[in-house]
Amino acid sequence: MVIKDKEFGEVIVRKNALSRGVKFSVSTSGRLMMSVPKYTSDFLAKRFLNSNRDVIRKKLPLKNPNEQRARDYQKKIMMKKAKEYLPYRLEYFAKLYGYTYDKCRLSHANTRWGSCSSNKTISLNIGLMKLPPKLSDYVILHELAHLNHMDHSKSFWAEVHKHDPNYKYHEKVLKKYSPGL
Ligand SMILES: [Zn+2]
Repeated sequence: MVIKDKEFGEVIVRKNALSRGVKFSVSTSGRLMMSVPKYTSDFLAKRFLNSNRDVIRKKLPLKNPNEQRARDYQKKIMMKKAKEYLPYRLEYFAKLYGYTYDKCRLSHANTRWGSCSSNKTISLNIGLMKLPPKLSDYVILHELAHLNHMDHSKSFWAEVHKHDPNYKYHEKVLKKYSPGL
């Protein structure tokens, strides 16, 4: 269910058999998300929302509700672009430097540019499409190097350095950007 709220915009309500109380969080799109016990009525959900406004305002990093739809649209466009680029760029570097991975996933988390799991799945954030190509390439090379080193040890960085001699600079500049929309 979605509550249309004057202050928070579209509030996503998840009815969950396992939840005992009400929990507020932020969705990847920056909307307010409420998880409530399964049999909570809509009326009650709205009441919970009203009685928690102060806490929500203070504690949750919600994005501007007036831009929710515009951000959805932007995200859709970025996902489309990302699908046509990132998996191929990853494949290109993997072939070039002799890495094998299992799957490439596209993510849109608000915090991480990429990740590499022990089952050799590499996730790349669609927000990489906003970055200068040298930076997105760096992220891809960083995740590929994790296939051989699942940590940030000296040997990991040595491997990154082999493929991107400017990695230190790229790592630093990357901190100025945020993957979320
Ligand atoms: Zn890393």
